Amino acid sequence: MAETGRLHVVAVPIGNLEDITLRALRVLREVDLVACEDTRRTAQLFDLIGVPNRPLVAVHDHNERARAERIVAVLSEGKDVALVSDAGTPTINDPGYALVRAVVDAGFEVVSVPGPCAVITALAGAGLPTDRFRFLGFPPAKVEARRQAFEEVAGARETLVYYVAPHDLVDTLEVASTVFGGERPAVVARELTKKFEEFRRGTLASLVAEPGVVRGEVVLLVGGAPEEAPPTADDLDAAARAVIADGFTGARAAKELARRTGISREEAYRVVLAARGER
Ligand code: SAM
Repeated sequence: MAETGRLHVVAVPIGNLEDITLRALRVLREVDLVACEDTRRTAQLFDLIGVPNRPLVAVHDHNERARAERIVAVLSEGKDVALVSDAGTPTINDPGYALVRAVVDAGFEVVSVPGPCAVITALAGAGLPTDRFRFLGFPPAKVEARRQAFEEVAGARETLVYYVAPHDLVDTLEVASTVFGGERPAVVARELTKKFEEFRRGTLASLVAEPGVVRGEVVLLVGGAPEEAPPTADDLDAAARAVIADGFTGARAAKELARRTGISREEAYRVVLAARGER
């Protein structure tokens, strides 16, 4: 380990214990202190994955800032600290951001030790586009706020990824189907890496109709908004006539048509001429 202390942000399994990495095991065995959400759960996990007793300190949403100061003091003594969550990657919908920030601000090194994360595991197996995605955490609990949150991203082209509590799944699918449209492709990824892992693929409407088992841990993925189809020749002709009827002439008509339809100025010019019967 280095001379000055480092904070290692260490991912742990989200269900299947075989997913602990060799590097995570080594780091967890070597550090002087482990910051975790719940000391009892982490002690149990360490037992199962073969990490001998380590000094543990609980860091959660309510004490994170105060604990961050203490951990920075430990790093300044040249000791190494690991941060783990109950499951998955720390800071991803879990505590840790304030601690990482405090360690960065204090000038100490942060090492990210990658591993399981439900967002990425769900995306990798869902069969929806992964070139661009947006992770949005848990949707708001109140129905109206949830609807509004969905409306804000309804036009987004990228795959949307949500964590969902199982008891909220059916309501969430229903609101999503109303806001995004029932035909949007969607996947319910449940109990990932565990015995009853399931990818339920369909559309929002088909998942509302048959949500399947609504127990366990759930990631909901919704395909991005479809690209709008380009306007047809008839659409363009109608739009050009409307521009002319609105009093636009010559180059201004072409510019206005391009603005309204998204086609190039050159093409708009040709369409305007054709609509006037000049070509
Ligand atoms: N930090 C974790 C990670 O890296 O994925 C996420 C913690 S967040 C508090 C817990 C939520 O993650 C669950 O409610 C569920 O939506 C999702 N999740 C965690 N493990 C999962 C699993 N095995 N299968 C499906 N979803 C899971």
